[in-house]
Amino acid sequence: MEIQENIPLREHTTFEIGGVAKYFVIVRSKEELQEALEYAQTKNLAFTFIAGGSNVLASDSGFDGLVIKMALVKYSIDTEGNEIQAEAGVSLMEVIHAACSAGLTGMEPMYGIPGTIGGAVRGNAGAFGTEVLDVVSHVTAIDIESKEIRTFTNAECAFDYRNSFFKRTSKWIVLSATFSLMARDPEECIKKAKEILATRNERQIQNIRSAGSFFMNPIVSDKLQKEFEDEKGTPARNGRVPAGWLIEKAGFKGVAKDKAATGQRSSNYVINLGSATAAMVQELTLEMQKSVEEKFGVKLEREVTQVGF
Ligand SMILES: Cc1cc2nc3c(=O)[nH]c(=O)nc-3n(C[C@H](O)[C@H](O)[C@H](O)COP(=O)(O)OP(=O)(O)OC[C@H]3O[C@@H](n4cnc5c(N)ncnc54)[C@H](O)[C@@H]3O)c2cc1C
Repeated sequence: MEIQENIPLREHTTFEIGGVAKYFVIVRSKEELQEALEYAQTKNLAFTFIAGGSNVLASDSGFDGLVIKMALVKYSIDTEGNEIQAEAGVSLMEVIHAACSAGLTGMEPMYGIPGTIGGAVRGNAGAFGTEVLDVVSHVTAIDIESKEIRTFTNAECAFDYRNSFFKRTSKWIVLSATFSLMARDPEECIKKAKEILATRNERQIQNIRSAGSFFMNPIVSDKLQKEFEDEKGTPARNGRVPAGWLIEKAGFKGVAKDKAATGQRSSNYVINLGSATAAMVQELTLEMQKSVEEKFGVKLEREVTQVGF
């Protein structure tokens, strides 16, 4: 375990934004994680975690403490039990590809979501109607205060829309997760995953300097849900409408402010046009929030996690 100093966070986030972390460490095992925690605790440093950095907005002034990057990257497949177990730092795409290649289906709709297993479990990541909660059987996590390691059943993870026990209770850090899948012809599985990726590319929600959807889809009034359903011909899910639909209606489709812009296709994506700062993103997203609230009386909540603010 090597503690590095003055590491630019923009190099560790898909937004490519963020100042310097005073201390930075990549942990590749449970033991290294414990060592990093001890280092921070004995030196009385503030600490925070990142993994794939695909759901993070890091401040321009960086982080005055230790950033711990989760890079535990082992996984194993049990084809008889139709399960794949992966450590927190494995990329979600790698896990889905490995599962498909082994003839295990269920996760393909999430193919293309950037980031790691740990990040996906914490935020109950999902796409095209499938979320982590639909496929995860159990999760192992560590309490960073007591160092207790515990296994959580799916129900104990208390998943909800882009939320989980681990997001609400940030002292628990995900170490690994086991996914329960079904047998299917590997070629069919891979074909489906590739189709999903093609759709994501077409919708311009792939390979961009961004952190994905900036705001969560809000729960809105029955009237607004109906308006959405009439206009789009698709049902509102659990009382929620896409934040992007409201943002677009509030006049923020493809709007650039300095070097930060909203997506041309997906207005809920905030994109770094090249040299955007966190301050520019803050300014633009506050305006988006304000306009949506004024027009619809709906307060948008961030999905993106802020580091160093
Ligand atoms: C182009 C693009 C498209 C996207 N599309 C989607 C999509 O379709 N659906 C979707 O749901 N999301 C999407 N996202 C958002 C993002 O990919 C997910 O939220 C992803 O699961 C984040 O994982 P990560 O490893 O990058 O987490 P990070 O961004 O590194 O971290 C996010 C948060 O999780 C915490 N964290 C990281 N690892 C752990 C761990 N092991 N235990 C506990 N906490 C941890 C961090 O401390 C931080 O607070 C997209 C992002 C981008 C850039």
